[in-house]
Amino acid sequence: MNRTTLPLSAATLPLYAGVDLGGTNIKAALVDDTGRIVAFHTEPTHATRGPEDAAARMGRAVHALAAQAGIATADVAAVGLGSPGPLDIPAGRIVRAGNLPGWDDFPLRDRVAAHCGRPVTFANDANAAAYGEFWVGSGRDETSLVMLTLGTGVGGGIIIGDLNVEGAHSHGSECGHILVDPSPEARACPCGQPGHLEAYASATAVVRRADEAIRSGGSGSLARAVAAGEPLTPILVGRECAAGDPLATALVAETARWLGIGIVTLMHAIDPEAVIIGGAMTFGGEADPVGHLFIEAVRAEVRSRTFPLLAAQTAIRYASLGGDAGAIGAAGLARLAHRG
Ligand SMILES: [Zn+2]
Repeated sequence: MNRTTLPLSAATLPLYAGVDLGGTNIKAALVDDTGRIVAFHTEPTHATRGPEDAAARMGRAVHALAAQAGIATADVAAVGLGSPGPLDIPAGRIVRAGNLPGWDDFPLRDRVAAHCGRPVTFANDANAAAYGEFWVGSGRDETSLVMLTLGTGVGGGIIIGDLNVEGAHSHGSECGHILVDPSPEARACPCGQPGHLEAYASATAVVRRADEAIRSGGSGSLARAVAAGEPLTPILVGRECAAGDPLATALVAETARWLGIGIVTLMHAIDPEAVIIGGAMTFGGEADPVGHLFIEAVRAEVRSRTFPLLAAQTAIRYASLGGDAGAIGAAGLARLAHRG
């Protein structure tokens, strides 16, 4: 990630802070009114220390960003906070966070606000990332987009105009949980229901399928690398796909196929200008031969299942902000709320 920091003298005021809470790290960015980063801060989440400890440190992170930029915290117009869900967004609470055990029903938004002394806008982390890409990233020239974040799970964000689709019950944009396989043999999704996109297109799902294939006698360079003790990850699958291993290549293609099936449903429901694919599992992106093969396979699957005109007019491309999308987007959502 090539992150350039804008000097305060060149920034367009006011400034907004965005905090991206992850299971492993907290990332915080101070951005100007056009979404350019003025200051950046990251630290471990230390989820086991509990939510109040993390809320205090997220509050301090906002103070640290202001100090880094040379402004008073009171001059940060508003703060956005992206959190793993499911959330109760109006209430500002995490309802049940799978990777943050013991944080259930914690009033996260208001505790962070108390610690930083600024108003806090609360959002689902994947929605925040989608808004970041919409505002200043890969979707900045679009009027609407759907973003899928491929990582441990599959995050979803839907942005239409300046509307972040949160739904009536804070479950809007849960694109990772759309149904792609209704059959009795469908794989179980981490949410507890079978057949959801996340059960097929997340990094966890790719590793599980690879492991199953190898255990049931799969051979080739991927199987040999795992037998030699290399950790089975999507990066390893991508590397062996690049090397021409048939099993790794099939895994990449199969993941693209499921993703394409999910994307067709999202296109038919929303008809966005673009579908953006981000997260840690993008196989190096469009410039990488495997990343190119992956997204081309997604596009081909979509073409084979949707209206030809729609397929021709809907862009499917990778995200461009990398791991900063959530923090930038959270700041952008705070800006929207602040401007009213
Ligand atoms: Zn699910």
